[in-house]
Amino acid sequence: MTDPYRLFIDGQWREGAQARRFDAVNPYNQTVWAQVCEASEDDVRDAVAAARRAYENTWRKTSGTQRAALLHRLAELLEREAPRMAQLESTDNGKTIRETHAQMLYVARIFRFFAGYADKIWGSVIPLDQRDVFDYAVREPYGVVGVITAWNSPIALLGNKLPAALAAGNCVVIKPSEHASVTTLEFCKLVEEAGFPSGVVNVVTGDVTIGRALVGGGGIDKITFTGSGHAGRDIASMAGKQLIPVTLELGGKSPNIVFADADVEKALVGALAGIFAAAGQTCIAGSRLLVQRPLYEIMARRLAERAERIVLGNPLDQSTEMGTAANEPHFRRILASIERGREEGARLITGGGPSTDPALARGFFVQPTIFADVDNRMRLAQEEIFGPVLSMIPFDTEEEALAIANDTCFGLASAVWTQDISRAMRMTRELRAGVVWVNTYRMVSPQGPFGGVKESGYGRERGEAGLHEFTITKNVMIDFSDEVRDPFAIKA
Ligand code: NAD
Repeated sequence: MTDPYRLFIDGQWREGAQARRFDAVNPYNQTVWAQVCEASEDDVRDAVAAARRAYENTWRKTSGTQRAALLHRLAELLEREAPRMAQLESTDNGKTIRETHAQMLYVARIFRFFAGYADKIWGSVIPLDQRDVFDYAVREPYGVVGVITAWNSPIALLGNKLPAALAAGNCVVIKPSEHASVTTLEFCKLVEEAGFPSGVVNVVTGDVTIGRALVGGGGIDKITFTGSGHAGRDIASMAGKQLIPVTLELGGKSPNIVFADADVEKALVGALAGIFAAAGQTCIAGSRLLVQRPLYEIMARRLAERAERIVLGNPLDQSTEMGTAANEPHFRRILASIERGREEGARLITGGGPSTDPALARGFFVQPTIFADVDNRMRLAQEEIFGPVLSMIPFDTEEEALAIANDTCFGLASAVWTQDISRAMRMTRELRAGVVWVNTYRMVSPQGPFGGVKESGYGRERGEAGLHEFTITKNVMIDFSDEVRDPFAIKA
């Protein structure tokens, strides 16, 4: 085991004030493979103060060109370290190396995308009704941003937030998940190597109490959070009391809708990618597969056949297609959801429990599981499972598909498979979701904005909208008229 991972505060690696640690457990074999310092509330205060100093004294005064150069350098370093970072992340959360390696390279692209913005955060000159007033608006950083992430993809989730926050001129305090903290700390070594000034990026590790201390402890100007709806509500209410803005990326129960005229081979791959990639531990999981009746039984049979051939195994092997649940409590939750699905009367067509392969007995492996004939009112169709559990729902008409698709509290992703362009256009207009894919699934890009509606959250990440999430507009009016105004009437 390596030395314990320390907190990263003000450019220093340091022990937590209480000198306590927690274990990083490999979900593939349940071994403790690293230890991480547990921050205290005092450490959080120090980190926030360091970020504030860095913001006031350094970062807000750097030019866009300087910030861009640092972000590009960080992208280069992440590309260089991608194989090692992927290995660490797969060890920490059980995701396959195929997925984590692709994510590292993708995050490097997000850094480059926002590096491109750093010196192009334009304002605007606004022609007013008042002729003798010069008006311009500028986009300014918020100041200190609190960043809280989940365990399923620590670096990819950070990649949705950090590049935009830094490009816009903010300093950050990051709190990664207690279930997968290591790669965020390793990432800070690259931040250091890239030459970012001390205090621009800080990391405090620990559980929900540290997350709450970061949000509720004062000194933060904006929060960006990815995680569960339960935590999102708590965070939004703490932020509400302080009147600080929040971006929330929460859960989903995304509909993947296959019409009878779809390209079946592509739709099958899209359905698999939607639910079994990352063992379903992705907020954009296509966990409800709506299939028009003529294709329904064929899809069910072929999906079940392919699901049974999915290679479960060591997440570090290139040949592994599905890794583990990321931690034991989550593993138990997924199994309980499957049990509930059975009790609700859905038809289990494959999977349905932990892996029975003796070679995998020490890992938190769940069989790829498919329920058919799910009624959209079942908990199976309404609650996020965040695991490899698919609910198949048949439909007859476009109207029925839409009604079912929109009938959940979530609105993160959605997809439509059809060759009919008019239908695709109607569906994309009517689906209540932040993301709609047509004839593809689980496609992401640095340029495309991402986020949810309803209980999937608010605010956007990536794309230009993702940049604006980390800036606030200031309007400036310069009055060059000779007029002496009436002090008792608004000058409008
Ligand atoms: P979680 O909400 O339990 O924890 C997420 C992070 O928040 C962790 O760092 C945790 O320590 C911290 N936290 C928890 N409660 C908190 C509180 N009250 N105040 C402050 N911090 C708190 O979520 P999780 O189990 O780590 O992740 C799974 C969830 O994340 C799923 O619901 C999934 O859909 C969601 N998710 C969403 C996206 C997205 O982009 N929309 C992406 C990935 C995961």
